Amino acid sequence: MNYVPPSPSAETDAFRFDNSFARLPSQFFARVDPTPVAEPWLIKLNRSLAEDLGLDVDTIERDGAQIFSGNSVPAGAAPLAMAYAGHQFGTFVPQLGDGRAILLGEVIDRSGQRRDIQLKGPGQTPFSRRGDGRAALGPVLREYIVSEAMFALGIPATRALAAVVTGQPVYRERILPGAVFTRVAASHIRVGTFQFFAARGDMASVQALADYAIDRHYPDVKNDERPYLAFFKAVVARQAALIARWLHVGFIHGVMNTDNMAISGETIDFGPCAFMDAYDPKKVFSSIDQFGRYAYASQPAIGQWNLTRLAETLVPLFDPVAATAVDLANDALGEYGAIFQRHWLQGMRRKIGLAGEEEGDLDLVQGLLTAMHQADADFTLAFRRLCECAVSPGADTALISLFAEPTAVTSWLADWRKRLEREPGTTNERTVAMRAVNPAYIPRNHRIEQAIVAATEDADFSLFEALVDVTSKPYEDQPRFMSYADPPQPDEEVRQTFCGT
Ligand code: AMP
Ligand code: MG
Repeated sequence: MNYVPPSPSAETDAFRFDNSFARLPSQFFARVDPTPVAEPWLIKLNRSLAEDLGLDVDTIERDGAQIFSGNSVPAGAAPLAMAYAGHQFGTFVPQLGDGRAILLGEVIDRSGQRRDIQLKGPGQTPFSRRGDGRAALGPVLREYIVSEAMFALGIPATRALAAVVTGQPVYRERILPGAVFTRVAASHIRVGTFQFFAARGDMASVQALADYAIDRHYPDVKNDERPYLAFFKAVVARQAALIARWLHVGFIHGVMNTDNMAISGETIDFGPCAFMDAYDPKKVFSSIDQFGRYAYASQPAIGQWNLTRLAETLVPLFDPVAATAVDLANDALGEYGAIFQRHWLQGMRRKIGLAGEEEGDLDLVQGLLTAMHQADADFTLAFRRLCECAVSPGADTALISLFAEPTAVTSWLADWRKRLEREPGTTNERTVAMRAVNPAYIPRNHRIEQAIVAATEDADFSLFEALVDVTSKPYEDQPRFMSYADPPQPDEEVRQTFCGT
């Protein structure tokens, strides 16, 4: 008998898809299959996520290269590219869409949540314009590392299920290895998805999309007297909370265009994103953000700007009387600042070990940030070392050594200790609580860069593996990985990051 090789797992039902987005009207997407690649190889499968998703892990591990390259479309998938528009750096582009991404479908995870599984870089779609629909290895590894680190930090974010190299080059400023990233998201509905239909005057589709998003992400608002307004308010609240969380860990998204803001409240589209080292509110990494539109401290305001664009699409659904509808929208937007501030201050209090609340806390927090800024202190390390100062003044030296100029932080520590005298709890409880919110490990830029260079130039994925590993437990001291907590040496510092395009 002739040996017949097993066919790629096209028939595997390892996924048990249930594709609700594909059941929406046809103007929401274009059906398109991934374009097969030459020689895919599985870099990494996120087994624990695969298990949470209820996937057949052994099968997808065995066939991972074929499945996650798009060579073999699993049974039950309904591959499609989603339509969306967006404001890019303030300029409206009426048609963007998934130009280098294909949604395979949705699964219901073990906790009953519906999750999208999407390939990023699987070839052209009707929305590719002049792009090749492909992704280079570097941005794929960056998204893998950073999105998983965000999750481990406890910040809502899309997840990394797998990464493969395609065995084919992609042509950017130089020739780079091609790769495909598999992303898992609560959904891929963006502010720009609403803008796509609003820009075409298609209010029926805006409403259908809102109904879909409500069902999927905000079912509670259906009981509200004004469900669409309640939906909008809920999106506002989630975004305000999300951006506050970014600031707590020094995260800079980099491209907060309206097409890169998810309605679900997850961090999405990790392009030229980065965590800052030395604290600087004006910090920008992205090479394309020349005017600092998306700088660290500008993110809260940009969040509100983007939500205003969302409000513009939804406003006719708020009330039949236009003037009333606009007033309702403005009131909802007006709440954003206070919601953000509340989340931000609450998180900052916890970072400096305060369980109680006092009037002067904002000034105290600002005092530390100002001292850090003036003295170029490393953001992550300063807060981590502060955890030790909560138990022992002997630890002050290690903290102070991070400040180029110690006077400000020394007098701040004295103020802080006076404030702590009025706090409940023991010093040990305080330091434990502080260590649970002040990470030791973030995916520092220079580490990401080193991992990308090793993978791209030498096909060496050991630095990538190590970085994913260490940042999966960001709040635990890991003696083996101590150097990963360190800021870059001057010659290691990364000043710019680039988009995946
Ligand atoms: P992004 O910068 O990832 O937010 O992408 C902005 C838009 O450009 C989206 O519509 C993407 O689908 C599209 N795009 C980015 N890179 C590519 C590519 N290599 N091929 C096709 N479309 C792309
Ligand atoms: Mg995008």
